This record gives sequence, C-alpha cells and structure tokens, in this order.
Amino acid sequence: PTDINALADEYLRLSYHGLRARDKSFNADFSTNLDPTLPKVKVVPQDIGRVLLNLINNAFQAVNGIENPKVVVSTKHAENGIEITVSDNGPGIPEAIKDKIFQPFFTTKPTGQGTGLGLSLSYDIVKAHGGELILNSNKEKGTQFTIILPLV
Ligand code: ADP
Ligand code: MG
Repeated sequence: PTDINALADEYLRLSYHGLRARDKSFNADFSTNLDPTLPKVKVVPQDIGRVLLNLINNAFQAVNGIENPKVVVSTKHAENGIEITVSDNGPGIPEAIKDKIFQPFFTTKPTGQGTGLGLSLSYDIVKAHGGELILNSNKEKGTQFTIILPLV
C-alpha cells in the first residue's frame, strides 16, 4: 500500500528541482493541498510516480515565463477511489488538440524538449491500475489533469 500524499509531495519537489537544475531561469510557485484522510492504495509506486512526474513537468513547462506561475498538486478521498489533481495557471490546451495529446509522439514543444510520450505513457499506466486520467483545460483557468485510482 502506497502513501500517495507522500509520493505527490516528493515528485513535486523532484520535478521543480530537476527543471531548475537544467535551466537556472526556470521558476514557479508550487504547493500541495493534500487530503489527510486519503487512504493508502495498492499501486506500483514507481509507475504512479512516473505519471506524476510527467504531469507535473508538463505543468511547470506550461507556466514557465508567465506572470505569477503556479502549480498545485491536490489529493482527495472520493467515494469510489482517490483523486490526484495537478493544476497549473498556464495558457490551457487548445480545443483543437485536446483529442491528440494522449497520442504517442504528439508534442507541441520544440525539438529536443518534448518526446510527446509523457501523456500517452501516463494514460496507459493509469489504465493498467484500473483508473482514469481526466483532462480539464481552458484559457481562463489553465489546465488540470486528474488521476482517479480505485480503492480495491
Ligand atoms: P511532451 O511534454 O513531450 O510534449 P506530453 O505527452 O507530456 O509530451 O504532452 C503532449 C502535449 O500536450 C504537449 O506538447 C503540450 O502541447 C500539451 N500539454 C500537456 N500538458 C499541458 C499543460 N499542462 N498545459 C498546456 N499544454 C499541455
Ligand atoms: Mg510531457
């Protein structure tokens, strides 16, 4: 059984420090909003960690350079499972590409900066855990990805 709150906190820091190590000009605010009643879940921690890292890296890259950049990771004990949400106040994902971003090798990033594999891999990992990966995004609010994991 894995403590998802601890995992979320760890990977948020890992992502931030990793991006900063590669690019000294990178900066963003980040915080967590973790549900203290969150039950532990049976997952492969490295795999769910990989999903978190992909979503959080995307979020930080989306806010890099904007005014008041902010990334929040929150967790919630829901009725049938647990929810982990990665939110950013970046530019959002245009309607026209929303159905493409989960496809392998789809990227809008410059060559060398994105493989386009992060979301495709994340989707497969979450599905393999019996869960769902849900996108909510618009220009006003930015982007939210929610991982839903079942309670077995
Ligand atoms: P990569 O990050 O290598 O481009 P991903 O599969 O992680 O590949 O993401 C695919 C595309 O989805 C990105 O290139 C970007 O266009 C879009 N995207 C993903 N997350 C976000 C986000 N938080 N904000 C804006 N666009 C995003
Ligand atoms: Mg990515």
